[in-house]
Amino acid sequence: MGRNKYKKWHREQGICVDCPKKVFPGRIRCLEHLSKRQIMAKNYYKRHRQLICDNAAKERQRRKDSGLCISCSNQKENGIDDGYTECQNCRERLFFERCK
Ligand SMILES: [Zn+2]
Ligand SMILES: [Zn+2]
Repeated sequence: MGRNKYKKWHREQGICVDCPKKVFPGRIRCLEHLSKRQIMAKNYYKRHRQLICDNAAKERQRRKDSGLCISCSNQKENGIDDGYTECQNCRERLFFERCK
């Protein structure tokens, strides 16, 4: 069985891909492995924060330059430069989030 098939089998069984425990609902890993991965991601972020932020800033600039939404990278409506850096969807979402 290939690695991918193995993973798929695990997912179908509702078993963590890293151990034989049951997955956390909706995820492919158990709670223990989910939190382990979260800690790993956090440590990675801590160690490489500068790089990650630099890359994010570069990516934002690239999207801005190509007329894409900086949040979801979708083409903005009609590709028109309307002075916003985000597409209408994202602006509306932000608007509603602010109002919550
Ligand atoms: Zn696990
Ligand atoms: Zn967007």
